[in-house]
Amino acid sequence: MNLNIREFSSSADGFRSELEALLAWDSVSDAGVQEAVANIVHQVRLKGDEAVVEFTNRFDRRQISSAAELEISRAEMAAAKLRVSDELVTSLEAAAKRVHDYHEHQKQPSWQYQEEDGTVLGQKVTPLDRVGVYVPGGKAAYPSSVLMNVMPAKVAGVGEIIMVVPTPDGLVNDIVLAAAYIAGVDRVFTIGGAQAVAALAYGTETIPKVDKVVGPGNIYVATAKRMVFGAVGIDMIAGPSEILVVCDGKTDPDWIAMDLFSQAEHDQDAQSILISPDLAFIGKVKAAMERLIDDQSRKDIIKVSLEERGAFIHVKDMDEAMDIANVVAAEHLELSIDEPEKWAEKIRHAGAIFMGRHTPEALGDYCAGPNHVLPTSGTARFSSPLGVYDFQKRSSLIYCSPEGASELAKIASPLARGESLEAHAMSAEYRIIKGDTGE
Ligand code: NAD
Repeated sequence: MNLNIREFSSSADGFRSELEALLAWDSVSDAGVQEAVANIVHQVRLKGDEAVVEFTNRFDRRQISSAAELEISRAEMAAAKLRVSDELVTSLEAAAKRVHDYHEHQKQPSWQYQEEDGTVLGQKVTPLDRVGVYVPGGKAAYPSSVLMNVMPAKVAGVGEIIMVVPTPDGLVNDIVLAAAYIAGVDRVFTIGGAQAVAALAYGTETIPKVDKVVGPGNIYVATAKRMVFGAVGIDMIAGPSEILVVCDGKTDPDWIAMDLFSQAEHDQDAQSILISPDLAFIGKVKAAMERLIDDQSRKDIIKVSLEERGAFIHVKDMDEAMDIANVVAAEHLELSIDEPEKWAEKIRHAGAIFMGRHTPEALGDYCAGPNHVLPTSGTARFSSPLGVYDFQKRSSLIYCSPEGASELAKIASPLARGESLEAHAMSAEYRIIKGDTGE
């Protein structure tokens, strides 16, 4: 199948503005979606279970009469696991363990230190009490998303994990439930979309209110998360998935073609870009893609994604490739090159960096260990993969000894008076030890 994928040369006039146009993605939904989601969120807040049941019946084509029917017990999760093949359960358990072990390294302890006069300062780290994990389920099932969202919460020590997953036509996915069981989810509700996000954010008679909602989803989910932020925490607003492959021309072109497909098959808006200093190699990858695409079960999605948002970029050298990679700030960056660890030092912006020819993104998606929930649409400039830190919060600790308080009060008092806050000043001044002039 012929593929009409855009080709750029970094030396061409106007390349930087063309690159900007290629990367542009509007993460804010249109007015129609905004209005629909605002109504759903409002109704759920107002009517609780009644609205959740009504929207679930409407959008997921179900015939539920009470919210109690939406819950799936741990016993049902265990039963679903028994219906899943041994091979798949073994893979789920192995992936869960690897993801768990990786995230153990992210745990941050509380800390404190003592000053000479006995004053103690520090930070207390506390896991969140209850979180809601959104697992998408409108068009496909994502057991790997269950593991990636739940394991860091478990490692952080979150008290209770509530998972929501839509079940269109009432069809429950056994692999998703098996993953929930293995990951240690406490409660599952078969709801999705904006109504699920609103139910978690505000609570209903049946669905408990959580402190934070995490997990990817479609435009209705993303818009709802943006709307409820403030009432609850959220992890991030995920845009379409992206991969940027930098290759020096020495990797098998078929491998690179499949790595680009692996992103394009997610959905039509996904973005797959190859950067190489070797123009002939770019041609070989294109030929491999045109040969391999016909055998792909999701070839129609792959074709649209590659032709609408994909690109080949020919660069002068590897230094320039790294500069462009930093501009793209891709969710997934593959460095399919010699000495990847040396070049990775030049990368400042990327959600995850896959180093070397034997490290395809697909391994990171499922089981390498790091999280696959990553910043998209250039947000790797200022944000990080989902991690244990998203499920912990920090409180400052301050203990003043009498001598320490006296010293601090002498600093605080003029500052408070400078702000015309007399009570602040006096509160501090009361702590100055009589006769302590600071001399
Ligand atoms: P979803 O669970 O996100 O959405 C399904 C829900 O959307 C339905 O339950 C319904 O409530 C709501 N909905 C659908 N049409 C609606 C309408 N007209 N009005 C109001 N609500 C409506 O499932 P999905 O649709 O399959 O989307 C999943 C998304 O998650 C995809 O974009 C996929 O790429 C993404 N994803 C991302 C990651 C990641 O790690 N970044 C992982 C897995 C999936």
